[in-house]
Amino acid sequence: LTQLEQRVLNEAPPKGTQAAAAGGRQFSQLPLSRRTLQGLESGKFDSMTEIQAASIPHALAGRDVLGAASTGSGKTLAFLVPLLEKLHRMRWTFGDGLGALVVSPTRELALQIFEVLRVVGGKHLLSAGLIVGGKRDFTEEQAMVSATNILIATPGRLLQHLEQTPGFDASQLQVLVLDEADRLLDMGFREQLNSVLTYLPLQRQTMLFSATQTRSVKDLARLSLNRDTVEYISAQLV
Ligand code: ADP
Ligand code: MG
Repeated sequence: LTQLEQRVLNEAPPKGTQAAAAGGRQFSQLPLSRRTLQGLESGKFDSMTEIQAASIPHALAGRDVLGAASTGSGKTLAFLVPLLEKLHRMRWTFGDGLGALVVSPTRELALQIFEVLRVVGGKHLLSAGLIVGGKRDFTEEQAMVSATNILIATPGRLLQHLEQTPGFDASQLQVLVLDEADRLLDMGFREQLNSVLTYLPLQRQTMLFSATQTRSVKDLARLSLNRDTVEYISAQLV
């Protein structure tokens, strides 16, 4: 750990409950790359929400994260910031293939994540793509997935590509995010997620975020997270 990372980890979590409350912890206090800080600045993100302040330092230190926080608490940046930093620190770039994967339950949520990624990751030398099925032609997507560094995907279409797209190689994946895990399970994606996991390397960082901590979320966490390094974080937006 760098001194700054250590300091960030040692600080007590913020007492304030309101997201991004004035006087809260700033992204600029974290050991982030200039590119990410510029991206955050262009999105006008300066103070961290509670879930961000609680989870990002652990994720930056390489730990797996199981994060629970209500809708609207800022979970998207809680995983996108560490994801970008991980690839940046590894000097991951265009020709390096799939480095990070974010699984989201619906097309709409995936698109929202993609839009935030475009802002916050816009200064990085990384490509990002959405695979959510729907209108876009499958073969058209096939050309894209093999050449993309960060994919935001819904489970069904993702599995289809893992099974059918020649040259789509997830074996070097560094970061997996399961977003809205409770909804993923409520929507019946359990089996597809299990299958997706069989294509991914065990040596990776995984972040699982959920609004609620149900039994099935805990089961999925047990299956996907590294129990030796996982950090359990729960934050409330009051
Ligand atoms: P969740 O996934 O927990 O439901 P989101 O990540 O979608 O929440 O964020 C909810 C809203 O809060 C979004 O409009 C987002 O732009 C905003 N937001 C997130 N983090 C911050 C922050 N640090 N400062 C200001 N606004 C933020
Ligand atoms: Mg969300």
